[in-house]
Amino acid sequence: MSLNYVFTIDGDWDEYFATKLSEEDRKPVKDRLIPLIEGEIAMAASTGGKFIHFVHTSPLVRDFFLQPEFLALWKKAEGAGGEVGVHCHEEELYKAWHYADTERMAPAIKDMAEGLKKAGLTPRSYRGGYMTFSPKVLPLLESHGIFLDYSCDPGRHMVKNGEIVSDWRGAPSNVYRMDYRDHRKTGDSKVFEIPLGVYIEQQSLFSVWQTCRRLKAAGGTIIVSVLAHTYDFTSWKMRLKIKTALMICKMYGSFINSGQALEKIKEMDL
Ligand SMILES: [Zn+2]
Repeated sequence: MSLNYVFTIDGDWDEYFATKLSEEDRKPVKDRLIPLIEGEIAMAASTGGKFIHFVHTSPLVRDFFLQPEFLALWKKAEGAGGEVGVHCHEEELYKAWHYADTERMAPAIKDMAEGLKKAGLTPRSYRGGYMTFSPKVLPLLESHGIFLDYSCDPGRHMVKNGEIVSDWRGAPSNVYRMDYRDHRKTGDSKVFEIPLGVYIEQQSLFSVWQTCRRLKAAGGTIIVSVLAHTYDFTSWKMRLKIKTALMICKMYGSFINSGQALEKIKEMDL
């Protein structure tokens, strides 16, 4: 019986989403990103260093975040008790979504997972950009030793230009073993889904408090994620909000890492 959170930060920057900008201007700027990621590591001190930075890869930047300066930061995060995960934004923003195209997903996941591993890091987690997910990627994740997915936002149904971008209608709101045919159902794949519990940017602090109280009251062993983004760290108000949200979470449960999540999953016999 415990309420457990995994603190996750998606490594996206503001300009990526600004489709009015040119391709060149949408790209990340190293000197701007590095201090923000330093800020993430500092923030994670309040969760005992435990957090997952989801490393962004997309057609726009591909392996930008595998450059030495960033690898040094990922190692620093791991050294402090944190982790890195794979975050695929396989899309032409608002125009084309390739998350279910295994021809494109296979190299995107492989290059990031292998790139991180080659640098001595241990990625164990995946999250699709915009919480996109197709069960077709399950075998790909398994082949790279990624057994935890964080793409589920229970109930989410995002449609852009008539195309389904992300569909988590009917998905469980607690950790479950994913099904090879339907990512929203429990099944017999080797990948476990840790659904989103707290979305710091989209919820008020009052709502975060209500969520934590509700999760605690549900009883049993619960594992959910708490979400923030790298771009949040540009604003002191957002940093303060994240810090406060983490404090509220801690009043009702504990932050765990991937290893601890997998142990708990084993105990739960999912
Ligand atoms: Zn993202």
